[in-house]
Amino acid sequence: MSFLRVRKQLVALVVVLGAAPVAAQAPSSDPTAALLQELIRANSSNPPGNERRVAEVLLSHFRTLGIDAKIIPTPDSTKGVFIARIKGDGSKRPVLIAAHEDVVGVEREKWSVDPFAGIEKDGHIYGRGAVDFKGGMAVFARAVMMLAEQKIPLARDVIFLGEADEEGGGGYSTAWLAREHWDEIDAEFALNEGGWIMKAPDGHVRYVSISTADKLSLPLKVTAHGTSTHASMPRPDNAIFGLSRAMAKISEYETPLTITPEQRQFFLTLAKTSKPPMSNYYRDLVGDDLQKAKAADAIVSKDPLMHSLVRNTIAPTLINGGFRVNVIPGSAEATINLRMIPGSDPAQLIATLKQVVADTGIQFSLNSPTYARNAPSPTTTDLYRALEKSAKAVFPGVEVTPYLFQAGTDAGAWRSKGVPVYGIYPYPIDDDELSRMHGNDEKVSIASLKQGTDLIYRTLVEVAGKR
Ligand SMILES: [Zn+2]
Repeated sequence: MSFLRVRKQLVALVVVLGAAPVAAQAPSSDPTAALLQELIRANSSNPPGNERRVAEVLLSHFRTLGIDAKIIPTPDSTKGVFIARIKGDGSKRPVLIAAHEDVVGVEREKWSVDPFAGIEKDGHIYGRGAVDFKGGMAVFARAVMMLAEQKIPLARDVIFLGEADEEGGGGYSTAWLAREHWDEIDAEFALNEGGWIMKAPDGHVRYVSISTADKLSLPLKVTAHGTSTHASMPRPDNAIFGLSRAMAKISEYETPLTITPEQRQFFLTLAKTSKPPMSNYYRDLVGDDLQKAKAADAIVSKDPLMHSLVRNTIAPTLINGGFRVNVIPGSAEATINLRMIPGSDPAQLIATLKQVVADTGIQFSLNSPTYARNAPSPTTTDLYRALEKSAKAVFPGVEVTPYLFQAGTDAGAWRSKGVPVYGIYPYPIDDDELSRMHGNDEKVSIASLKQGTDLIYRTLVEVAGKR
């Protein structure tokens, strides 16, 4: 049966049964929201990703405006990296603005709307990636497209990048891109996802945080050894008992407060924009009085995010030992995911853990002995200053602060080569919307998308426009 006949029959069936799928909504009247709807409909849940779908949406929009744009193929034909460049006069080095094309999957039955339909409802766009990070991609892309629409003369190239494999699931992330195509993504500085434009319940923007560093993730292997023998004649050196004792001691240990200058500024900003008693705790946390700081830590760190922002963290994530019920294994091992504050020394933390365990039979080894030092990006560059200035223009009176991102992003590909990277989720967001990121009924408000586009457009004009 030909494809055409199948289609005709299906159409007929749909007409007869009146079972046409719900007509696709008309696109939003806001151009950023409309682009976001298209990006959400290009389902790029990773794995498998299918990022090429997203790259193609971007390609058609950029090419319509005559912007130099292309898809960089990867060895996986379903994954494409999108790159566009608007030329400047070359008097300054390029600025790069990047967003990942892939999203995490969904628990479909827990959504009240189709997560891949880009539904507009109650002033919001709903769908997987609305916040992380197709919303940001739409804002960044529209801001760059506006430079072309407004024919802004540029002193430096503006590069827009759509990245693959950020949410995991494949090997064509920015680490791959930096290895294979560095010349295309080299820049003086870059903007990516990261900090927040936090909204209070009454709708006003409390503060803008711009991430200047990510925590460094390191896998630490802890191994116990013993005699491998028959389970009927146990000995005192059982490897699983040895590992268990070591892990129990580590579970009782808490790392000390580690506050960087950027963190200090962040918590002082929180203090200024919060009400007592929390405002006092935030101030005490980064103050000089150690006793007060400890007391504040006990309160503030009840929030797992805050807890992660002020210290190196220790999270066992894998455990392995034994292969048969009647054999005592010769070794047992656990992997601990260490998340390090920039500037702190993993070797020092491991030395402390050895003291805590106090058992010379336990081995500690870092799975990746070479790692990039993740020094924070400075707050003195033209890009950081342009963001700060534009944020204060779009949200009058707002506090702007650098921020340590608690997780990892794609920024490492640039930061490890000394290129400063800043991060922002470029739309005012409240706690409820934030909690839906990677969750159910993810949504972003259209008013926030508009403000975000204004913010990023102003930033690009400021940092790249010719004066
Ligand atoms: Zn993301």
